[in-house]
Amino acid sequence: MTTSKKEAKQRKSSKAKAIITVTKVSKSYQMGEVEVQALNSVSLEVLKGQIVSIVGPSGSGKTTLLNLIGALDYVDSGIIKINGKKLASMSDKELSLLRRDTIGYVFQNFNLLEEINAERNVEMPLILANIKKEARIEKVNHLLESVSLLERRSHKPDQLSGGEQQRVAIARSLANDPEIILADEPTGNLDSNTGKKILKLLIDLSKENNKTLIFVTHDINLASLAQRQLIMNDGTISKDILS
Ligand code: ADP
Ligand code: MG
Repeated sequence: MTTSKKEAKQRKSSKAKAIITVTKVSKSYQMGEVEVQALNSVSLEVLKGQIVSIVGPSGSGKTTLLNLIGALDYVDSGIIKINGKKLASMSDKELSLLRRDTIGYVFQNFNLLEEINAERNVEMPLILANIKKEARIEKVNHLLESVSLLERRSHKPDQLSGGEQQRVAIARSLANDPEIILADEPTGNLDSNTGKKILKLLIDLSKENNKTLIFVTHDINLASLAQRQLIMNDGTISKDILS
């Protein structure tokens, strides 16, 4: 079956809607005298609940694409819509609410706060969203349980292994129940065995909770765990494979 037929079928069967729409997006960076074109007219539609991987050589634009979708950076040209709403027409306030409530981020170096323990790291987004203490405690317990870290809740990041730190980060990314999870090389700092377990956990939790997940990886085997694989080259999506 061709990708478009498969896509049509999938769309029909799940009545899935596009949650992310990227239309002819370009982005370049100025490096001294030189202009580097990081993305070159990229278009992409991601359906609600889809699990998507992105692979491609270093410098092919994967992080740039993820950062633009995640409203962490601005496009030069083209349009990005989340749930039908253009990022470019959102106010700063709307964008920060989007980053807080609609999108969960998982990074390669975990980005945990070093001074506070696992439990507090997971609680932080809930505090920022003004959730009451009782509800926070319940949610944090549930999240730590879902990543099997209840008994390590009092440990600070430097007392946890890389895999455990990433599990904390995954729990944190899910705290405000975002619709979308963006994970940029979440296994990049882990050994391959741990990396595979962590990615499977991320995929399972995304499916269970009906999240849309986009993850970047260097590992073709890990990429194939996704329903849909994008391959990037030179700032473009060169292949879009639906399995
Ligand atoms: P990938 O994540 O696939 O490795 P990136 O999106 O990070 O690729 O980078 C795409 C291109 O843009 C690369 O050539 C990179 O050097 C360049 N680039 C990315 N971010 C910046 C930046 N902040 N300043 C200058 N150039 C950048
Ligand atoms: Mg990158």
